[in-house]
Amino acid sequence: MTYTLSGCRVITGNEQCPYYPAANIVIKDGIIKKIGPAEICPAEGEQISLRGKLVAPGLINCHHHLPSVLYRDLGSDLPLMDWLQQAMWPAQAHMTGEDAYCAALLSCAEQIQNGITTTVDQYYYADCNARAVKRSGMRAVIGATVFDHPSPESKDTLQTAVDFIEKYRHDERITPCFGPHAPYTESPRTYRRIAALAAEMGVMVHTHIGETRGEIDCIREKYGTTSTQLLEETGLFENRVIAAHNIYLSPQDIDIFAKYQVGAVFCPVSNLKLASGIPDIAPFIKAGIPTAFGTDGAESNNALDLLQDAKIGLLLQKTMHRDAALMPAEQGLAMLTAEAADIIGMAHCLGRLMPGYQADLVVFDDAFANAVPHHATAAQETAHLLYSLSGKNVQSTMVAGKWLMYERQIRTFDYPAVARQVQQRAARIAADAGLL
Ligand SMILES: [Zn+2]
Repeated sequence: MTYTLSGCRVITGNEQCPYYPAANIVIKDGIIKKIGPAEICPAEGEQISLRGKLVAPGLINCHHHLPSVLYRDLGSDLPLMDWLQQAMWPAQAHMTGEDAYCAALLSCAEQIQNGITTTVDQYYYADCNARAVKRSGMRAVIGATVFDHPSPESKDTLQTAVDFIEKYRHDERITPCFGPHAPYTESPRTYRRIAALAAEMGVMVHTHIGETRGEIDCIREKYGTTSTQLLEETGLFENRVIAAHNIYLSPQDIDIFAKYQVGAVFCPVSNLKLASGIPDIAPFIKAGIPTAFGTDGAESNNALDLLQDAKIGLLLQKTMHRDAALMPAEQGLAMLTAEAADIIGMAHCLGRLMPGYQADLVVFDDAFANAVPHHATAAQETAHLLYSLSGKNVQSTMVAGKWLMYERQIRTFDYPAVARQVQQRAARIAADAGLL
């Protein structure tokens, strides 16, 4: 099927032609066939007028935990270890697979409402999460969490992860991978096994690295090295690795990231709320390391509005380095789209709006006063997107040529029913865990 989105302002993410003030986007069978002004790109098939609206590549959320919307607001304002011990771990012990599925679907709704088309996850109940993503119409990289200890789902999380990867490895919109939690909870032996299995199965690894000073102290005490150097010794970085947080990395660690092109994902809002630290992104960019933003889970964010994470991340860099010109909006846009696609190995088909790429896109409206005025140049529109707009400005969201949300209505599932279910399930879990 061929149709045309017509008359829109387009930020393409394509370095050759970054912006059109008025363009047609011709979509055929879910792929962008042509894009450009009407004179050189006439409409084909049905026309959907987006006259004057801003269209951008769908946002890629490079670090998330889908079911954690269940724990939104619980334990707020507690220090990290208290938050984990008093709120998160007791609550998680009461979560079932069906709870995870419903919560993951709610998380997809919230991400779609915020213009996110691909989410990169790590949690147990990975199969439930994948089923929810498939129903929502989004894309996802889903890491099945591997622990040294049993999870509420499985006594052998590594085997569960292998089974999950086998089940989804040929799926159109789900990219399964291994999700070892972190080097301070999983042993080098586990990471070594995962490194070998990931190489054998040809899949990615999604893990936390350098999130807290406590982690670095613990690894130093136990192994006499840093988390990054420890993981290098396991052979993990021979695979494509998505590393979340990266707050406490040494210059030598950053060299290792550069050597192996480890994908560095930053979650500034989650880090600020838990007072874990402030990520310094600039040295990673200087070293040529692919970088991206993530929301982290809703339990520590508490929203899934990725544009806000990017804005805060960029502003923190400017202030840390006392340089307002550092980390310009263009860098932020790349971290939300093309570089994020590169980190997950999909730069050939996601993260840009250009012929041959997937029609994954987000439409912004000027219904709210914060979107007015705008100025029709690539630099101005990119700054408008990164600094002025937020998730509330998202009008419609598309994946593979299909509207997941159109004019603020989620089309792929009954969102109000899912929201009601999650409300009930979250209340039950909080009560059972003695948190209310
Ligand atoms: Zn995380």
